[in-house]
Amino acid sequence: MERRTHLARPRYREEPCKSALTRVTGMPFRWSLNPYVGCAHRCTFCYVRGFEQRAQRASGEGYGASIRVKTNLVEVLEGELRRRSWRREAVAMGTGTDPYQPAEGEYRLTRGCIRALGAARTPFSIVTRGPLIVRDIDVLQEAARRVEVTVHFSVPTLDRAIWRHTEPGTAPPHQRLRAVRALVDAGIRAGVGMAPLIPGLTDRPEQLVKVARAARDHGATHLWSRTLYLAPGTREHFLGELARVWPEEAERLDGLYRTAYLDRAREDAVHDRVASVIGEADIADRRTHAIEPDPPDIQLGLWGTPSEARPGRDARLERGLMPSARPPR
Ligand code: SF4
Repeated sequence: MERRTHLARPRYREEPCKSALTRVTGMPFRWSLNPYVGCAHRCTFCYVRGFEQRAQRASGEGYGASIRVKTNLVEVLEGELRRRSWRREAVAMGTGTDPYQPAEGEYRLTRGCIRALGAARTPFSIVTRGPLIVRDIDVLQEAARRVEVTVHFSVPTLDRAIWRHTEPGTAPPHQRLRAVRALVDAGIRAGVGMAPLIPGLTDRPEQLVKVARAARDHGATHLWSRTLYLAPGTREHFLGELARVWPEEAERLDGLYRTAYLDRAREDAVHDRVASVIGEADIADRRTHAIEPDPPDIQLGLWGTPSEARPGRDARLERGLMPSARPPR
């Protein structure tokens, strides 16, 4: 199965915004920041499809065909960060759309946000599948000297057939791993999120071991996982697309997911496998010249929340959580 869906270039809608930061509750970060609305990567499992369906926007084939570009985002963000009431709480980028999707090559809004956050001494994290982030190593380094900066690269699988089918608009997994290496070599804390893991398709022990070892070999400072979340909107599209190539797998997963979540026992089993793989691969922060804020304002964990940041502990800490939008149970 080597089908690669042809994706037309999305239409960009340049629409200014009134606010930049969005308050988040029930997640390990306090604020989210998204330069774009819609994502040209068009992953079949994208949880945002569920939000789009509830908002009565395209959540199936049409998702990602039209991208809103918040052209004035950096100026609006700078204004919000200047407010006396701003408490420099952790900001997460990549919670609603990928900040390094192709539009960023042209608009450079994520780059501008990194500069603004660093200048305002506001810690932040970035979740992405886009190797384009290596373009911004200079501003990431600059920010990391002032605040805690963490990058999470989503690499759920190295299986090319599954990648091609489920992530039609993304860069190949090995390109992402090379980007992790470039970031780590530049002193940036950068790790891998195996997200989402699809039960029976990408969570087998030998598959997890491959990703974990590859992450380690590319210098990943941390590794975490999240299982597939199938809310209405995502469910129909994901299962429909899967059925086109692996109908029996679609049927099996349809039966497995009685709700949007995998049942707790199965999810715990997956995370136990991941924990053991993390231990076996000996994932650790091995940066030879780590860039850290000096002196650190606040000790923050991977998501920007106070914690004793240790790779193994953080992996367990993040169990069941996603960097983007898994709602708390
Ligand atoms: S990269 Fe992330 S936000 Fe974009 S389609 Fe894929 S899962 Fe959704």
